[in-house]
Amino acid sequence: MQTILVRLFNIPCGMGPLVTWINTVKDPILITSGENMAEETGALPSRTDFSAWYNEVIRRADIMDVRYPVKGLYVWYPFGFALRNHTYTFLRSLLNRDHEETLFPLLIPETEFMKEAEHIKGFEDEVYWVTHGGLSELDVKLALRPTSETAIYPMYALWVRSHADLPLKLYQVVNTFRYETKHTRPLIRLREITSFMESHTVHTDWDDANRQVEYELGLAAEFYRELGVPIIISRRPDWDKFPGADFTMAIDTVMPDGRTLQIGTVHHLGDHFSKTYNITYEDINGEQKLASQTCFGISERCIAAVISVHGDDKGLVLPATVAPTQVVIIPIIVGKRGAEITAAVETLEAELKAAGLRVKTDARDMRPGAKYYHWELHGVPLRVELGPRDLDNRQIVCVNRLGVKTTIPRENAAESVKKLLGEAHDQILDKAEDHLKNHLKMVTTVDECNKMLEDNIVVVHWCGDKECADKLEELTNSSLLGTGVRSKYVVDDEGPCIVCGKAGKTALVGRSY
Ligand code: ZN
Repeated sequence: MQTILVRLFNIPCGMGPLVTWINTVKDPILITSGENMAEETGALPSRTDFSAWYNEVIRRADIMDVRYPVKGLYVWYPFGFALRNHTYTFLRSLLNRDHEETLFPLLIPETEFMKEAEHIKGFEDEVYWVTHGGLSELDVKLALRPTSETAIYPMYALWVRSHADLPLKLYQVVNTFRYETKHTRPLIRLREITSFMESHTVHTDWDDANRQVEYELGLAAEFYRELGVPIIISRRPDWDKFPGADFTMAIDTVMPDGRTLQIGTVHHLGDHFSKTYNITYEDINGEQKLASQTCFGISERCIAAVISVHGDDKGLVLPATVAPTQVVIIPIIVGKRGAEITAAVETLEAELKAAGLRVKTDARDMRPGAKYYHWELHGVPLRVELGPRDLDNRQIVCVNRLGVKTTIPRENAAESVKKLLGEAHDQILDKAEDHLKNHLKMVTTVDECNKMLEDNIVVVHWCGDKECADKLEELTNSSLLGTGVRSKYVVDDEGPCIVCGKAGKTALVGRSY
C-alpha cells in the first residue's frame, strides 16, 4: 500500500526513490467527449463469455473502433488512447532509468532485411512489402518493419567503435506491421501493432548481455505490478524462441477463460546479429571483438491485459496508475440547494486536482444511476458523491470500482482520497493474483492435463525432448510455454516427464491467445 502511494502520488513514506511520473502527463480528461463516443445499449455480455464480453467492452468503453476498412487495423478512441498514453508514459519512465529513447524509420531495405537467415525465416510469411514509389517500381523493395532489428543494427555497426561506446541501450515506441493470418482481435492480434516498445541493447560480452536480460525482466515485473497484472516468466522452448536469438524469456498472464496471453519478451541475441551486421568494437587491448546484444518488447497487449484481467460484468476496472480519470465527482442535487452543492463540488474538484489527481465532475442533467453506470463501464477507480446531507455532515461518500463504500470527512479530502485509491489498487491486484493462483494446476497425466487445460494453465514435468512436447501439444491442443518457470505459485523442481516418464523439469503448458 505504501509503495503504491509513493508511486502514485509522490507521498514520501521513507521507502526508496520517489517516482513522479504521474504528474508529468498532461491532463487528458479535458477531452470533451472522448469517453462517450460509442453507443451504450443494454447490458454487457457476462464476462463468463469472455470473447463476447471483450469485443463489447472494447467498443462500449471507448477503447477502439473496429470499423476501419482494413482487416486487423483498428482505431483508438480518444479515451482508449488516453489510457494507452498513461500506460506508456509509465513504461517510458521505467526504461529511461538506463535507456535512451530513439526513433528509426518504418521502412527497411530488402537487402538489410534478408541478411540474417533465421530472422528472415521467422518473419517471411508476415512481412508487408512496399514495391512502388508512385508509378515506378523500386529497385530495392522496402519492408514495413515487423520488428526493427534489421533497421537498427546496420546503424549500430556505424555507432559502436570502442568498448567505451558500450553498453548502448536504446528503445523506441513505434507501430509495426505483421500480416497475421490468424483471427485478428483488437489489442491482441493485429496487423498494425500501434504501440510496440522495443528496446535494443549492445554489450561487450554474453554475460553483460545476460545481466541486461535479467534487468529488463525486472523492469517488466515492476511495470505489470503497477498495472495490477500478475505475470509468470518462463524460458520459451528453443523451437519457439525469437528468430535469431540465443534464447527467449517470455512474460505471460492468464486471461479470465484460463488461456494465456504473452505480454512481453526479452531475447538474448548473443552475437548472431552482430556477426551479420558487423557490430564490433575495439577492446581495452586494441583487439576487435564481436558485441553481444539483447532486445525486449512490450506491445499494446499490456492494455489488453489490464482490460481483461481486471474487468467485470459492469465494464472496465482500471488501476489508478493508468486510469485517464482517477476520480469522478457526482453532485447529488435534490431540493433547493443546487447552487450550494455546485459550489461545494467545484471547490472539491479544485482541491483534488491541486493534489495531482485526475478528476472529472459529471454535472450532466441525468439520473445519478445512469452516471454511475457510465463511469463504471469506463473503469473509473473512485466515485465521489456529494449531496445536501454530506454538506451538512461535512463529509463525502466514496465508492471504489469494486463497490467498496467509505464515508470520509470533508477536511483533508485529497489525502483520504489518495489513500482510498491506493487501497483500491491493492484490492484489484489481490483479486487478479487470486485468479492466477486458482488457475494454475499441477498435473501428472496427459488426461488430467487435457481436462485442466479447459480453463487453466497447467504445470507439468517434462524431459526436454521435442518429441514428448510435440506429443503433449498434439494430444491436448496446447503449447508448451516454457521451462525455468518463475512464479511464486510454481515450484521449479524435478519429476518424471508427463509423456515418457524419464527425469524431467517443471514446465508450463497452456492454450494461448
Ligand atoms: Zn519425455
